[in-house]
Amino acid sequence: MEQTHKRHVAILGSTGSIGTQALDVISRHPDQFEVEVLTAENSADLLIEQAAKFKPNAVVIGNDDLYDKVFAALDPLDIKVYSGTQSLCSVVMMDKIDVVLTALMGYAGLQPTISAISAGKHIALANKETLVVAGELITAQAKEKGVNIYPVDSEHSAIFQCLVGEFHNPIEKIVLTASGGPFRGKDRAYLQTVTKAQALKHPNWDMGAKITIDSASMMNKGLEVIEAKWLFGLSADQVDVVVHPQSIVHSMVQFEDGSIKAQLGLPDMRIPIQFAIGYPNRLKANYPRFNFADYPALTFEKPDLDTFANLQLAYDALDKAGNSPCVLNAANEIAVAAFLKDQVGFLKMSEIVKNCLDKIAYISNPTLEDYVETDKETRIVAQELIVS
Ligand code: MG
Repeated sequence: MEQTHKRHVAILGSTGSIGTQALDVISRHPDQFEVEVLTAENSADLLIEQAAKFKPNAVVIGNDDLYDKVFAALDPLDIKVYSGTQSLCSVVMMDKIDVVLTALMGYAGLQPTISAISAGKHIALANKETLVVAGELITAQAKEKGVNIYPVDSEHSAIFQCLVGEFHNPIEKIVLTASGGPFRGKDRAYLQTVTKAQALKHPNWDMGAKITIDSASMMNKGLEVIEAKWLFGLSADQVDVVVHPQSIVHSMVQFEDGSIKAQLGLPDMRIPIQFAIGYPNRLKANYPRFNFADYPALTFEKPDLDTFANLQLAYDALDKAGNSPCVLNAANEIAVAAFLKDQVGFLKMSEIVKNCLDKIAYISNPTLEDYVETDKETRIVAQELIVS
C-alpha cells in the first residue's frame, strides 16, 4: 500500500463487533485513514450514525426493506446509498478504495471478497469463513492480482507480526493459542445440558454471538487452523493448537532453527485491526498495557479433542480437502444458528457437522460454482438434521 496518501478503507460489516472497533481505530488516526464505504445488514440506525460521522462515499444496507430509511437520512449528506447483497460486490470495486476490511459474518463474506480481490483491492480479513470455504481459490486469485491478505484474526495477526522481517525464512510450524472458552475442562456429560446463556459468556474476549459459540465449541479454533493453512501456506501437520486460558500469548511461530517467536498483549481486537489496515506501520495507541505482575502464571495445556469434537472434525476436513471445509463451515453455521434459537443442544452441533461431512458428495477440485452449490446443499441437509 502506498505511504504518501491516506488509506481509503471500505468496511464490510461496520456495525458489528469488528466494524465498530475498526471505526474506533480510524477515529484515533484521522491523518492515516479515510472511510470510503460502510455496510450493514440490518442495523440501519447505527449505520446512519456512523455514516454521518465518517462521511463515506457510499453505504450499503443489506436488508432492502431498510433502504428508504437510510436513503432519507444520508442522501442529503451526499452519501450514496445502495441496498441488497449484490451491491456489496460492486461497492468494493470503487476506484478510491485501497483496502477492504471484511468483517461480515460467515459465508456471506465470500462473494464480496472475490470481487474486491478481482478489482485489485488489498484485503484486511476478519471473515475467516471465506478462507475456510474457498482458501485455495482465494489465495490463488490474490496472488494473481498482486493483492495482499492481511489477517485481522488475533491469532493470525500474531503469526503475521512474528513473520515480519522473516518472510524469507521457512516456517517449521505455528502454534495457535486457544482460550478454551467457557467450558474448558468440562466433560461431555456437562456439555449435554449447557445453555445458550452459558455458552455466550466468553472468559476473555467480547465478540459477536456466532464466534462466541464457535469459541465455546472449539469450532472457532478449527476454522482458524484452516484459515492459517491458507494464509501462511502450511500443511495441516504444521498447525498446532495449544490451550492458553489467559489469552495473553496470541500465537507463535517456530522456525527451522527451533527458535519460537510469540506475540503478546492484552486481548484487544483494535491492535490486530490497526496492524492489518496500517501495515507495515505500528500506529501509536494508548490502549491498556499488559503487566507481567498481574499474570504470575501463563499456562498451556493440550486441547481435549474427545470432548470438543469440532476441532478434530476441522482437522479431518482439512485433511480431506476439496469441498470438505466448505461443508464443515455451512453445517456449522446452520448448527450454531439453531443452537442460538434453542432448537438443538450444545453437543448436537458437532453431530450435525459430522453427519453433513459424511453425507455431502465429495468434490476434490471444486470451482466457485461447486462451492456455492455445496454450501446450499449442506444447509438443506443440516436443516433436516435439526428438525429430525
Ligand atoms: Mg481468533
